[in-house]
Amino acid sequence: MEKYDAIVVGAGTAGCLAAKTIAESGLSVFLIDQKKSGEIGEKICGDAMGEHHLKFLGLEKPTGGELETRIDGIKIFSPDENTVFTIADKDFIGFLLNRHLFGQWLLKKATDAGAVLQDRTIFRAPIIEKGAVTGITAKNMKTGKVSEIRSKVVVDASGFFGVVRQTLPEEMGIDREIDNADVEACYREIRQLKQETENTRFCEIYLNQKVTPGGYVWIFPKGGARVNVGLGICMRGKYPNPKKQLYDNTFKKPIFEGSLVLTGGSWFDPTRRPLDNMVSNGVAIVGDAASLVNPIHGGGIGPSLLSGLFAGQTIIEALNKGEPTKEALWSYNNKYMETYGKKQASLDIFRHFLISCSDEDLNYGMNEKLMTEDDVLKAGMGDEFHLNITETAKRVFRGIRRVGFLNKLRLTVTMMRQVRSHYNTYPTSPDGFDTWRTQTMKLIEEGKEKLIK
Ligand SMILES: Cc1cc2nc3c(=O)[nH]c(=O)nc-3n(C[C@H](O)[C@H](O)[C@H](O)COP(=O)(O)OP(=O)(O)OC[C@H]3O[C@@H](n4cnc5c(N)ncnc54)[C@H](O)[C@@H]3O)c2cc1C
Repeated sequence: MEKYDAIVVGAGTAGCLAAKTIAESGLSVFLIDQKKSGEIGEKICGDAMGEHHLKFLGLEKPTGGELETRIDGIKIFSPDENTVFTIADKDFIGFLLNRHLFGQWLLKKATDAGAVLQDRTIFRAPIIEKGAVTGITAKNMKTGKVSEIRSKVVVDASGFFGVVRQTLPEEMGIDREIDNADVEACYREIRQLKQETENTRFCEIYLNQKVTPGGYVWIFPKGGARVNVGLGICMRGKYPNPKKQLYDNTFKKPIFEGSLVLTGGSWFDPTRRPLDNMVSNGVAIVGDAASLVNPIHGGGIGPSLLSGLFAGQTIIEALNKGEPTKEALWSYNNKYMETYGKKQASLDIFRHFLISCSDEDLNYGMNEKLMTEDDVLKAGMGDEFHLNITETAKRVFRGIRRVGFLNKLRLTVTMMRQVRSHYNTYPTSPDGFDTWRTQTMKLIEEGKEKLIK
């Protein structure tokens, strides 16, 4: 029977970085993916990634066509398109990726480090013994054979569906289900335009609650008169069909006249706080499988890479010391929550604020600067933003016709701060987790209650 130090399920961004990190330390890694190896990296995605992620992760810039266009920032359009916020901060500088080549580049890093890839292999079930995950069963699609593969630790990097996470027994203490209301249903196409757009350096985001309730339309320039265009809609209650919304609305814009569809498809984006706990005995969850996506813009490439790195580092430490128990793997939770998780959780509150705004609120709020570019920049970076007394007074004056909107914005700011300071108390071992979690649920529910209902 095959036995490895670690099995990584899924060779997306999170899985490749986890596999690379673990393999570089000399530990043995088995990496499986349901796709053919040459197709790994293909993903329904907006393809945008901030440059700062590569810097933070210590990855060099790829040079083989993985980075298609350089981006100077984002432009956010109000629902009536009369107001445009231009956010051109260093943290919003980045690239439009060739997602396939970028995925292949990461995969090569993992296999060059020594990870053994078995493609066209589908995860079936975890093997659980004495309360710990000790391997998986998987079906090799090339041979049709289902086999058992053993390991000391299994990493779930299978993306949105979290196939390992969903099959773990409840007593392992990892949430198996994600609420639909915390997910965006997306449809996206890559289109060849008849001519290059005026804007080739900014990612465009269009807010409109009627077209994209709880989400937005994006048009991202990919160079060569190609764009990545799509939309996401929050799956709360009854929601419209994303593809129909894109065709009935966005494609009516003059720039799409005579354009050609190069590729298209639907997928899901989990836009909420991270899973409260991402580890148990012999198992760690990374990337979309752990809901590690920015709740307001849905960007998850950076956080998934980060989680792959942190989970990998923690697994190495745990295996060097002994058994990969829940306690030994716990510091992965701490690293992620400290670096990105608390920002994600506070942005979950900002997401509820945005969901609660009508198009009229957003038009007025953006036009009259009740909400400013600076607020959006700070919110987008997860920084705390305060409304000081003078600033609040000025806004009250400007927002006399929308006092409710302003009050809600102030409440949002306060609640975001509360959530951040709560995440600063994330327990350093599983011991204090239940109490912490009860308070987390209370704060998030309060956010929904006060802002949406
Ligand atoms: C429409 C859309 C637009 C987006 N736009 C952006 C954007 O512009 N910028 C950004 O940063 N993020 C964006 N995201 C989010 C981003 O795509 C994800 O957060 C990121 O790809 C997550 O990486 P991952 O490795 O966790 O999962 P994935 O990239 O989904 O990888 C999972 C891997 O697991 C494999 N797998 C799944 N199930 C099994 C199984 N049973 N057995 C074996 N293998 C399996 C899959 O084949 C896949 O290779 C977008 C998401 C969507 C849906």
